[in-house]
Amino acid sequence: STFAGLGLDPLIVTHLQSKMDIAKPTSIQRAALPAILSETMDDGTPRDVFIQSQTGSGKTLSFLLPIIQDLLPLSSLSYIDRSIGTLAIIIAPTRELAKQISDVLEVLLKLRLRPSDDSPDAPDGFDSAPRLTRWLVSGLLSGGSTRTHEKARLRKGVPILVSTPGRLLDHLQNTSSFNVGKCRWLILDEADRLMELGFEETIQGILRGLEGRRRLAVQAVQEGKSSEVGGWDWERQTRTILCSATIREDVQKLAGTTLKNPIIIKA
Ligand code: AMP
Repeated sequence: STFAGLGLDPLIVTHLQSKMDIAKPTSIQRAALPAILSETMDDGTPRDVFIQSQTGSGKTLSFLLPIIQDLLPLSSLSYIDRSIGTLAIIIAPTRELAKQISDVLEVLLKLRLRPSDDSPDAPDGFDSAPRLTRWLVSGLLSGGSTRTHEKARLRKGVPILVSTPGRLLDHLQNTSSFNVGKCRWLILDEADRLMELGFEETIQGILRGLEGRRRLAVQAVQEGKSSEVGGWDWERQTRTILCSATIREDVQKLAGTTLKNPIIIKA
């Protein structure tokens, strides 16, 4: 099977091949991609997902590729207003892991879009086509830089955020301009290690913080204090994906409080 056969956009397939030398999906990707790209609940809401797999299995791309594909249509907008805020949050247990995920994400976001027909550079084809980074940038929060610096970046809007749990909770509680009202994706990577490192309470705090801020954002739109960008289902609930190498009791408990009727994927 191929990435295209699993439902991945041809633009992403080409980018994987040419920039990352990745041509054939791993077994976890074969199982996870079609499920994440297309499984929905009866009411059309995308379903939460539990991915059980080891490090080295290719699980990172299993969640990053569907996020990219989901956000790809944003590039048809002429620009992204900074008020859009954060659309996807990936939580990793350690700074090192967060950095690794962020590095992969940056390579993915260098994807070149289709050259537009009216572009003066069109004859050069893809070499002159705009990169996805014009619309989507990623940001890393991991205590590696100062809080003031992170706050400034969050105020500008970071569409895809990778963070360790403590820093994320800190900003949800203390950075008023951190806008997560339209967050569509929440990834809990290496959930077993999140539990081992004692992050259970922090994760619960993060969920409460996200929910509270989302309510405020929806309210602001209803009261006409904030406007919407057309042609995009902003109201979609946040979809949660949890990855873990093991299904211990503590991980199951976390899954129970974070996932709704999840698809379970093992490979
Ligand atoms: P992960 O399990 O996500 O940490 O990925 C482990 C390594 O496998 C990373 O270096 C990836 O770049 C690489 N990788 C992921 N998917 C594929 C694939 N389909 N083909 C070859 N290498 C891959």
